[in-house]
Amino acid sequence: MKTVDNYNFSQKKALIRVDFNVPLNENYEITDDTRLKAVTQTINKIINDGGSVILMSHLGRPKKGPEEKFSLKHLIPYLSNTFNKGIKFANDCIGPEAKEKVNNLKEGEILLLENLRFYPEEEAGDRDFAEKLSQLGDVYVNDAFGTAHRAHASTSIIAEFFQDKFAGYVMAAEVENAKQVLENAQRPFTAIMGGAKISDKILLIEKLLDKVDNLIIGGGMSYTFFKALGGKIGNSLVEEDKLDLAKSLIKKAKEKGVELKLPIDSISADKFSNDADIQISQNHAIPDGRMGLDIGPEARELFSNTIKNSRTILWNGPMGVFEMSNFSQGTNEVARAVVEATEKGAFSLIGGGDSAAAVNSLGYGDRVSYVSTGGGALLEYMEGKILPGVKALE
Ligand code: AMP
Repeated sequence: MKTVDNYNFSQKKALIRVDFNVPLNENYEITDDTRLKAVTQTINKIINDGGSVILMSHLGRPKKGPEEKFSLKHLIPYLSNTFNKGIKFANDCIGPEAKEKVNNLKEGEILLLENLRFYPEEEAGDRDFAEKLSQLGDVYVNDAFGTAHRAHASTSIIAEFFQDKFAGYVMAAEVENAKQVLENAQRPFTAIMGGAKISDKILLIEKLLDKVDNLIIGGGMSYTFFKALGGKIGNSLVEEDKLDLAKSLIKKAKEKGVELKLPIDSISADKFSNDADIQISQNHAIPDGRMGLDIGPEARELFSNTIKNSRTILWNGPMGVFEMSNFSQGTNEVARAVVEATEKGAFSLIGGGDSAAAVNSLGYGDRVSYVSTGGGALLEYMEGKILPGVKALE
């Protein structure tokens, strides 16, 4: 995979697939700019070389055609401010307006195209649509790791129309850091899995059982394991159809000599609310009518100690309903332990989505080795799948 460092973009119009799928509030203000910040380095490199930049992205999930709330024009003030210049905007990502604006684009200028997903052809991976997009640039750059697991028109199909195609800095760093964990992990290697559902993470958990020394399981998915072991879990989250799977994962971990660490206790609540009545419950005996919404103090201590003694750490998914302050302590303590281990020399990779949000909101983004911008894409890469967006650049 060639990266933007391998090329001089002087006089070139670089068409860049970025991941500008950022959360916006009701006033169209950006509430988390992690993804925008991530790609500034790639854009600056091209501009500093004397090239010009055409940005294309999706935003949200528009159903049929254009929708005001999913227009990328809402990002213009942020981008103007970040790059200290006016940002040109095309109201359509293909067609005569986009073409004309590209033709008039001068060295150092930035043009943002309207949301790719206003066309269903984008997600369908339509070849004609990809070809029309490709006509807007001399060279193609993909810096959208977050969508690299999708064979969409702008992330994969488009690459065949270019001789010169490059990974941006985000894409290159994501792949490099994931490889570091998959291929060069120092021991002890600890994976921390959390979040609501096992079903999304089965493949990764199975794959990790061949690699890790410790597998920590927290969050909503842990109750399926306790139920499978014959425990009473009250009204906690459970995937009834995954009980056998949980049992087989426990067995496999034993066979492979992996320490599977489940939370011993929980913070249980009488309702799914931050003002619920809370108490500490043992996870094999959560009273009826209560649900575990965070790991408890014993689990926090066990997990933290394991993490602090690790040399490689992969973390994906929160330990509880961390969006509510009364159930965020487990996730926060895990984040602190990861920081401590990193400061002692461990390599730590934080998988995108909620764990990344937790680490960033605690201000720990710079105190771990790498925070991934890709949720699903990282999971699939770690599972050993070939990502269409990565393959297209090779
Ligand atoms: P996932 O998308 O599977 O990684 O799940 C993330 C979500 O899981 C977050 O929104 C958490 O609030 C939620 N979550 C974590 N632990 C629990 C729990 N014990 N009960 C219910 N939801 C949880």
